[in-house]
Order: sequence, then structure tokens, then C-alpha cells
Amino acid sequence: MKIALDPGHGGIFPGAIGLAPFELREKDVTLAICTKMSNLLKKQGHKVILTRERDLNLDNNFTKDLRMRAALAMQTKSDVFVSVHCNAYSDPNPEGIETWYRAENKRSETLARTIQQAMAAAFSDHLNRGVKAKDLLMFRHLEIPACHIETEYLTNPTQLEFLASDFNQEKIAQALTQGILNFAALA
Ligand SMILES: [Zn+2]
Repeated sequence: MKIALDPGHGGIFPGAIGLAPFELREKDVTLAICTKMSNLLKKQGHKVILTRERDLNLDNNFTKDLRMRAALAMQTKSDVFVSVHCNAYSDPNPEGIETWYRAENKRSETLARTIQQAMAAAFSDHLNRGVKAKDLLMFRHLEIPACHIETEYLTNPTQLEFLASDFNQEKIAQALTQGILNFAALA
């Protein structure tokens, strides 16, 4: 399979910013996880397209930046699109892992379920928030199975520390990769 991996945000768009117990930016966590995923997927013989390999935005316009990520996946004839994110909320309590999928595509739901299952298995001590259909702007420009993973909450101090750890980022990358491999085995 050819897998488009999208490390959410980047460059002038930091995404969510966790501030306690220290500052951590979503764009840095997503790039670290996707870089690890790329290595793991390539080792399994899959082709990987990363929407970014460094701390950069694809366009200075937020909407166009999202559209270009989707366009890259379509232009490279990728089979699936996986966008990696960290969640945020206005109070520090919410936590957990969830996966969003492109509602109008049945295989997107299957992709989201296999990924969420792999994450739930790897992180059984984390809250499993399940899969949700979403009408994300980026999804509208994709004609392939697509999902968006919210790995954990940067606004929850315990989960910020979880997300900051290189060991945990590797474990997240392994779980997400396993989910994609499980999906590939179904196709
Ligand atoms: Zn995000």
C-alpha cells in the first residue's frame, strides 16, 4: 500500500499548545510520531508519503494548507490518508484517544476502527473515546479512506507528559502502524 501520513499542523500553525507542566506543541508531537510511523511502515514494505518532513506549513493560508495536504495524497495516488493529532480542551480534565473518519466512505470507518482498536489494545489504561464520523474540511478533498487520530489531550497535564515521552511516541507510532497493517490485511 501507499500510505499518506499527515503530521497535523506545522510551521506557523502550531496546533494545540499544552502549557502544564511544561510547554508542548502539537505540531512537534505529530511530526515525531509520523516520522517513527514512516520508518516502521517502510520496514514492512509499504510506501509512505509524508505531507511534511520538517517543521513547516504547506501554505500560509490555513484552509489552503489543509487542502494541499489532501491534494498531495491524491496526486501521489496514495491508498489511504492518516492524519495524526493531539486533542485539546478548555479545561484540564478531558483525556482519552479517539479516531475520526470521513463519513461518506465506508472504508474510512473500517480504517478508523482498526486504528482505534490497535490504540486501545496498546494503551488499555487510557480512556477509549471510540470512533466518530466527522465532516472535516480536509476529508472533503480526499477520495480515499481517510482518518484523523486524536492521540491524547495536550491540555491534560498527565497526558501532556505521556505525549512528550519519546518512548510513548514510539509506542503510539507502533500502535498506529499496527492499525494500518491490520487494515491493509483486510483489503
Ligand atoms: Zn490538530
